This record gives sequence, C-alpha cells and structure tokens, in this order.
Amino acid sequence: MIVNALALTHSTPIGKLFTHENSVHSFDVDTLMQEVFDHFTSYTADAVIITQQALAVGILTLKDMVRVLGDLENLMLPVKTFMTAPLKTFHSTMSIAEVLDEMKTMQFDKIVVQHVDEVVGVMDQRHLLSICYNQLTPFIKHEYNMLNSLMGMVTEGKKGLLKMATTDALTGIGNRRLLEEVFHAHQSLEERYGVTLFLLMFDIDGFKAINDTYGHNIGDLVLKELTTLVASSIRKSDLFVRWGGEEFAILLRYSDPIAVMKIAEQIRKRIDEHPFRSIAHLTCSFGLTSVQSGETLEVVIDRADKALYRAKEEGKNTIRMESL
Ligand code: GH3
Ligand code: MG
Ligand code: MG
Repeated sequence: MIVNALALTHSTPIGKLFTHENSVHSFDVDTLMQEVFDHFTSYTADAVIITQQALAVGILTLKDMVRVLGDLENLMLPVKTFMTAPLKTFHSTMSIAEVLDEMKTMQFDKIVVQHVDEVVGVMDQRHLLSICYNQLTPFIKHEYNMLNSLMGMVTEGKKGLLKMATTDALTGIGNRRLLEEVFHAHQSLEERYGVTLFLLMFDIDGFKAINDTYGHNIGDLVLKELTTLVASSIRKSDLFVRWGGEEFAILLRYSDPIAVMKIAEQIRKRIDEHPFRSIAHLTCSFGLTSVQSGETLEVVIDRADKALYRAKEEGKNTIRMESL
C-alpha cells in the first residue's frame, strides 16, 4: 500500500496513500460468504468493504473471515451477517495526523477511506504511524545534535571559566587559587606514594627600584620574562604559580631535600645569569620548606616565607631552608 514514502508527512491527505492497484474490493451486502471467502483466498486482501446500493455500509476483515470459518455453514449466509457496521469512514482529504488522532480515540486499527461517495481503500494504523515516525527521525536527530553541542559548549565554558579563575592574567601561569586547589590533591598523593612535597617560594630582589627606574610596563615585561625562564627550568609535573605581586611559589615532588636544594640552586643561578631584555640583570631570593602530611597550605607558606625572609636578610640572591 505504500506510495512514495519519501514525500509523505503527517499533514499529507490520507487519500494520497492509495493507488488504483491497491484500491480495496467491495461486495454487496447480500453476497454469500462463500464468494467473499474465495476472494480472500485468491487475493492478498486483508479486508473488504460491504456496500448497499453502491454506498459503503460495512467492512469485513480477514480476522472476521477466520471467525466465520469456525462453522462452514456460515459460507451460505450473506456477508451482511458478519460485517462490522455501521461503517465509519474517513474522508480522503483528512490528514494522516487527524486520522491517527481519531483512530486513537476510537481504538480502531484499520480504517476505511472514502472519497466523496466512493470507497478508496482500507488503511491500517501501523502504516500511518510508520510514516509519521519516518518524518520525525531527522527532527529527533537534529534536536539530539543541538543538545549535544549545547552540552559541549557548557562543558567548554566551565573549563574556560575554571582556567580563567586559576590563571594569572599577566604571566599566564597559575595563580594563588590554583596552588590552593592543587595543594590538597597533591598532599593525599604523597601520603599514598611516600614521596615528599616541597614548597619553594621566591621574590624578586629590589623590584621596586626596577619599576622606579624603568617604569611599570618594563616591570611587567620583566615579570613575564622571569616566568618563562623559571617555567623552562622545572618539570611539567611541578606546579609553578604567581603567589602575588613579584612573589612566586613552586610545589615540587622530590624524594629528598638535597635534590630540591639542587633544583632551587639551578633556578637561582639561571636567573642570576640571564640577560634580561630591558634591565640586563635580576636576582631573586628563595625560601624552601618541606610539606608535612596534614599541614594546611597556610602553615607551609608561612614557613617558606620565613626562610625567604632570612634569605633577604642574609644578603639576597640566595636560598634558605626552613625546617620544622
Ligand atoms: P626586596 O628586595 O626586599 O624584595 O624589595 P622589593 O623592591 O622587590 O620589594 P617591595 O615589596 O618593596 O616592592 C615590590 C614591588 O613590586 C612593589 C610593586 O609595585 C611591584 N609590583 C607588584 N606587582 C607588580 C606588577 O604586576 N607589575 C609591576 N610592574 N610591578 C609590580
Ligand atoms: Mg621583592
Ligand atoms: Mg615582595
């Protein structure tokens, strides 16, 4: 019964689903069941229309026919005895959606379609539903894709916001908040794997004088250049952040203090020997401490700061370690 399924939508008039070849056969009400039975056996019809003076008055389905065959004497009775009547017909101009709606309320799974006073054919609900479903599939797919890309945007947006909130705008390295967030996660790892965490803080020596001499913009460039230099001197797994102003912190994982001291000394020396673009020379002072399990970041920072203060006090451009 399918006619060009691609062009069909739920608003297609139901009459468009029929061709001449699939128009349904009709019998007069007085036709004997034997003749109707012969029709069912020689055609693949699953329903016939019963007419009276050319008007459709009832329907007889294949299911009715099976019931009739329960007693072979029924074959000698007229079809009007077994037909379903009165016949509710649907006009061929009704849309598929309207027809489906009515079929649902009336609980019909087959309907008879009529054009003016001529029966066009019988249509079943499954076929109509499949037309509507086929039409919905691309729509559902489109909605699904839209939803998916929206979800992606939200996730990306969240990531972007998180990155913005934990990045220092001037230098592009992490900020104080990132150190705070990462510190606890790192600490629980250390407890599990038995490596020690160290915090190295450093502060530019005489930075105020640099600003005063060369201007704040050059001061900013120096901060960037220093950041790049230090970032290239540590491992990717070490966390390097701008703690604030011209003070920086590095969270490092090493198995012993001697190894960290060596790294700190390498950084100090690289800065000391680096020819900075506008100012030529720059030094930093360093404070180092190990992190004990369960300590808050505040306590650790305080200890590293004390060591850094000593480095400043004892001549700058040097490293001090603060133990417990
Ligand atoms: P010390 O050797 O004792 O550390 O002396 P210092 O001059 O480096 O330290 P001080 O705390 O006196 O001055 C720090 C200066 O860093 C003051 C401040 O204006 C400057 N500073 C902080 N943040 C920025 C920044 O983002 N850009 C620039 N250009 N300067 C900054
Ligand atoms: Mg300083
Ligand atoms: Mg300072």
